[in-house]
Amino acid sequence: MKRKTIKTPQTLKGVGIHTGEVCSITFKPSEQGYISFIRTDLKAEPIIALAKNVSSTLRGTNIANEKAEVHTIEHVLSAANGLGITDLIIEMDGPEPPIMDGSSLPYAKAMLEGELKEIDQTAEVLHLEKEITFQDGDITYTANPCQDFKITFVYERKGHPLVSHQEYTFTLTPESYLKEIAPARTFGFEEEIAFLQANGLAKGGSLENCVVIKKDGFSVPLRFDNEMVRHKILDLLGDLKLTGKVLGPMHITCKLGGHKTNVAFAKKLTEEN
Ligand SMILES: [Zn+2]
Repeated sequence: MKRKTIKTPQTLKGVGIHTGEVCSITFKPSEQGYISFIRTDLKAEPIIALAKNVSSTLRGTNIANEKAEVHTIEHVLSAANGLGITDLIIEMDGPEPPIMDGSSLPYAKAMLEGELKEIDQTAEVLHLEKEITFQDGDITYTANPCQDFKITFVYERKGHPLVSHQEYTFTLTPESYLKEIAPARTFGFEEEIAFLQANGLAKGGSLENCVVIKKDGFSVPLRFDNEMVRHKILDLLGDLKLTGKVLGPMHITCKLGGHKTNVAFAKKLTEEN
């Protein structure tokens, strides 16, 4: 498998969901062998998208170096993972990518608009030799060698009248990613919004970029009946990009995972294999 980048730079602009700050993000061609983020508003080195650089996983995945931090990078990285992009420079003039519509589809479309291009170098593929498991309380991950790359995700919100249990299995190709996963939006529960805002989060959240789940309905019409579990797969694909490798054929099953455990599992995958 060859490494992949884009041919022409593409820019998107908008508000970050947690910081509420307006930011321009530009995807640029690269042949450096990895994905990096550059804060053009700061004098700082690029931050490489690797699990060891994760600085926080509170409601999103942030990475940092000594002088700069970028927040909520998982949807952008998910788009790159979904399309098989291995090499990319991502410039941002603020701390957090624009949330756009809350899904990864706008990023994936921008990357496709920039035209994918193969680099004449073999990608570093993580081939699984044996089963790898990870557990943290009720949260579990297993990865088994398989023919394709698949994810089964089990999402639960025990006792909730609308989203108590959702389960979905997804086999990754660029086409299936664009159709089944990329459109699934960020969601939050009505009762949590006050807590998030008290903690300085969700300042940029709105009806345009987030599905708010109430006891008796959703703030906007859903794109899929099981949009929540699809978004959990979207997030997991983004966090797994922090392995810095292309994940080879394997079946990952995740129950109840979130950003913190996704990153721990990404570390385990790279360390134990
Ligand atoms: Zn997300």
